[in-house]
Amino acid sequence: YRAKTGRIGHAVYDAALDSAQMLRLSMIGELRTAISGGQLRLHYQPVLSAQTGRPRHVEALVRWQHPEHGLVPPDRFIPLAEQSQLIGSLTLWVVNEAVRQSRAWALDGVGVGRIAVNLSAHCSQDSRADEAIRRRLVQHRDVLTVEITESALASEETRATLRELTAAGVSCAIDDFGTGYASLAHLRELPADQLKIDRTFVQHLDTQPRDEAIVRSVVDLARALDMGVVAEGVETLATADRLRDMGVGLAQGYLWSRPLPGDELAVWWVRQAGGVRPG
Ligand code: C2E
Ligand code: MG
Ligand code: MG
Ligand code: MG
Repeated sequence: YRAKTGRIGHAVYDAALDSAQMLRLSMIGELRTAISGGQLRLHYQPVLSAQTGRPRHVEALVRWQHPEHGLVPPDRFIPLAEQSQLIGSLTLWVVNEAVRQSRAWALDGVGVGRIAVNLSAHCSQDSRADEAIRRRLVQHRDVLTVEITESALASEETRATLRELTAAGVSCAIDDFGTGYASLAHLRELPADQLKIDRTFVQHLDTQPRDEAIVRSVVDLARALDMGVVAEGVETLATADRLRDMGVGLAQGYLWSRPLPGDELAVWWVRQAGGVRPG
């Protein structure tokens, strides 16, 4: 009798203790179903010349079309995917879907430029998916580029992946630059060809002299290292004007467009490309 009570008591205790963990496990299960069951979507945000406003390429941003919760943003499930080994199959899906979309746009005669996909630091937990991702990226380097966050590059494994990709001719951008404490030594040896300045530095550029100083020095640094600069999170014309005057090459933000489904992006692109002077 005592032993039985103990067991029941133990089970109740476990359930209470681990309810957060149970929720997490059920979310992981749901996410696995989402990946294999067609619930993920890619939206595309245009990246434009900061000098002319002409669209140059797009960034693919994943969303989860959840049957009950609607469209779930990536910040709510990418961390879970990274912690649960699902990030490999998620990223492989993203890469394949981007290739499919690129073909679809080409067939429609819409000259949307290359598609940048975001890579996580944690892909390498699943070496088979990882290998497949790298192979696809190299195979489609004419239509795909990659973005890796500065903080992910703290890991030597991620830096090795970046070196391997760029050696095979894949273009690489360092994402969220300025937030990840990357050492300048890393930066010097990394073969990336673009720095994306984090939007926290860009958003209030027109009113914050310190932000302007930071953006200016990233532009100088990039120029010295022979890299391009992308400013993300541009929301106002005033900011866009400042970026242009500072000599920033590319920009992206709600001012021009939010991330859009593939068909809507194509409509936006045709209209925008027709409405600005070439450059
Ligand atoms: P990120 O790669 O830095 O992407 C830029 C984020 O800034 C996107 O958020 C975009 O919608 C948002 N953004 C763009 N312009 C503006 C603006 O003017 N104002 C504001 N407030 N926000 C702007 P999103 O789509 O929610 O993605 C968040 C992050 O999730 C991404 O940041 C990226 O780190 C991650 N992510 C998205 N898709 C993927 C993916 O396929 N794989 C991986 N590993 N991570 C992804
Ligand atoms: Mg990005
Ligand atoms: Mg970013
Ligand atoms: Mg970000």
